[in-house]
Amino acid sequence: MDISFILNQLGEEHENYYNAVAPPIIQSSNFCFKTVDSFRNALSNELENTLYTRGNNPTVSILRKKLAALELAEDALIFASGVAAISAAIMSNVKHGDHVVCVNKPYGWTNVLLNSYLEKYGVKTTMVDGSAINNFSTALLPNTKVIFLESPGSLTFEMQDIEAVANLAKKHNITTIIDNSYASPLNQGPLSMGIDLVVHSASKYLNGHSDVIAGVICGSKERLRKIMSEEFLNLGGIISPNDAWLILRGLRTLELRINRSSETAQKVVCYLENHPKIDKVLYPFSSTNTQLELAKKQMKQAGGLFSVLIKANKQEQIEDFCSSLKRFLMAVSWGGYESLILPICALPISKFNSNPPPWNLVRIYIGLEAADVLIEDLNQALENI
Ligand SMILES: *Cc1c(COP(=O)(O)O)cnc(C)c1O
Repeated sequence: MDISFILNQLGEEHENYYNAVAPPIIQSSNFCFKTVDSFRNALSNELENTLYTRGNNPTVSILRKKLAALELAEDALIFASGVAAISAAIMSNVKHGDHVVCVNKPYGWTNVLLNSYLEKYGVKTTMVDGSAINNFSTALLPNTKVIFLESPGSLTFEMQDIEAVANLAKKHNITTIIDNSYASPLNQGPLSMGIDLVVHSASKYLNGHSDVIAGVICGSKERLRKIMSEEFLNLGGIISPNDAWLILRGLRTLELRINRSSETAQKVVCYLENHPKIDKVLYPFSSTNTQLELAKKQMKQAGGLFSVLIKANKQEQIEDFCSSLKRFLMAVSWGGYESLILPICALPISKFNSNPPPWNLVRIYIGLEAADVLIEDLNQALENI
């Protein structure tokens, strides 16, 4: 299936809604049946049937089909946030007494979930440096049920050899889950590398317009059926039909947006790598990245998100740099149309447990603006240091 077919056509049945080109927002909580038999049948399989919007909804269902196809998955489930998707994916595969191995420095709330929240349900986690496969095999225990990856990470961009980790996990019957938000399904296909479940924050590239919070889990029907009947229907963290529709609209330009953001980011990275006030650029496809070969092996291209270590003696210099930028908004998140900066010195360090990133790190997201405009702005702000 080609990408534009998925984004433009897949799952859309115009004849079911007055031949409208744009799909409708089916703003209904409830769906009715003509016979007891069809009602009973729908109730027996909420993954495939529509009877109540906490389970499925026709607008959401179009989005499920598209996101599953993008990840080459049998099915997808859409959640109220990326964090809801991550917690459902992990929780569906552990019980009291189990053990999880997670890569160091995952998304902040993944860290909190594994290292504090799930502890109270008797689930323990070992964090590992994911750059060497041996670190995973050493961390495994007889009760390890899940290996959680985030490759590349979304702050310092370390990668894991996805295929090697998937092979190791298969030998020990361990479920592998990866947060693929950074690469997006267009730049990295973890399921074809042997991963069991792919999760995304759809709030980032997938929606792409900074106006929806949502998440997704992609995987086999069997795994998603289990999540549907447990975490999905029980914890109830679903997306609204209206937000699903906004993501459908955002997806129309997914390929254009990602390619533009990525191409501009490469130009900006090139500029920053040669700037005397920049110590280092952290970017999967940076020529100075020690994992460049791995990046090229498992990703088509890097995204628009990267970090820089600024040459500075004191925090005020970082603050001056950030406040003199005119074309970058200072904010969390990324993946929208607008360029952003996130200085580490603004974040509460408690979020990172024992592993805080360097104080002079600034994360930069490149949106859809022209490269020369962004470079000029970075140039004048760096001069202010
Ligand atoms: C934003 C983000 C999340 C969390 O997603 P929400 O939609 O904000 O809940 C998870 N992982 C990564 C890599 C992210 O960037």
